[in-house]
Amino acid sequence: MKIHNFSAGPAILPKSVMEEAAQACIDFNGIGLSLLEMSHRSPAFEAVMEESEQLIRDIIGLSDEFAVLFLSGGASSQFFMVPMNILNEDEIASYTDTGTWAAGAIKEAKAFGNIEVVASSKEDNYTHIPKQFDIHPESRYLHITTNNTIYGTEWQNIPDVHVPIVADMSSNFLSRPFDIEKFDLIYAGAQKNLGPAGVTIVILRKSIIGRANRYIPTMLQYGTHESKGSMYNTPPVFPIYVSMLTLRWIKQLGGLEAMDRRNAEKASTLYNEIDRNTLFKGTTAVEDRSRMNVTFVATKDGLDKTFMEMLKSAGIDGLKGHRSVGGFRASIYNALDLESVNALVEVMKAFEQQYA
Ligand SMILES: *Cc1c(COP(=O)(O)O)cnc(C)c1O
Repeated sequence: MKIHNFSAGPAILPKSVMEEAAQACIDFNGIGLSLLEMSHRSPAFEAVMEESEQLIRDIIGLSDEFAVLFLSGGASSQFFMVPMNILNEDEIASYTDTGTWAAGAIKEAKAFGNIEVVASSKEDNYTHIPKQFDIHPESRYLHITTNNTIYGTEWQNIPDVHVPIVADMSSNFLSRPFDIEKFDLIYAGAQKNLGPAGVTIVILRKSIIGRANRYIPTMLQYGTHESKGSMYNTPPVFPIYVSMLTLRWIKQLGGLEAMDRRNAEKASTLYNEIDRNTLFKGTTAVEDRSRMNVTFVATKDGLDKTFMEMLKSAGIDGLKGHRSVGGFRASIYNALDLESVNALVEVMKAFEQQYA
């Protein structure tokens, strides 16, 4: 039976990517070696690094003012690496508190400068994106989490503010076009929308590298990785390779415009059913609904388990909501096909017929 993978992360990857990655583990490009047992300094892997970076540049339309880094430590390490590298002790940075991950970024940043939380939706259990906020005139940057994976909200527009934006894009990276000029830095753990866990993409303006004047361990300096093409030490070769395959797939399908159309269609199909179906309701403000993580609950008590069982027998996996929200979460990242959303909608309809 085909399994429809709605996992929040590590998450679905294109089938063609998985097949090519599997082959590379046996024999990479016909060289007779597995990708997993080759030197990262070999010409074959250097080509992978080069192509990965170039694809990111092409897909986003990055100018030479930006550097692209492939780092370890997950998006969570960027929570501290960002302020450690670009914020001085006596400077102010502004943060928005829109969910668990955003709050994590705030917590870590506090160790490195004056952090002002300019807006929070915590009191509403993070069910919306705050839209009114004032940023200190001397703030260095505004940090936002563009998509809140756990709560299912997304910034539909990158705000127009007087400071550069720093964004955690882990769960909607390359899912829609965005204006890179508004940003100083973007980071994204690969395992939501790009590749396997183990690599984090950091895109930053070269002009901010080395900006903070504190002591920073070598491995935690952006400059170390920028000057060595992300090969100061052994990079996460397999996650980078698989990410490269996904990047090729995105480019081949038509880039961010194509992802945008694809994701909009899937999201509207699913939200339309949630709104139509008397047994379900969405958990977030309609205008802030995420196109990547669709959160909803049952309107009648005691039916969650039954619905989960129906999903299971239809081969639909990964719908259990995050433990802090409950209910259901369908993660419909780039690689998920409309066909899978349609399969989910069919089960929702059958569920309503039987239990409404
Ligand atoms: C999953 C996630 C993280 C944590 O990523 P790790 O790579 O596991 O550290 C951070 N931010 C967002 C928005 C996420 O979805």
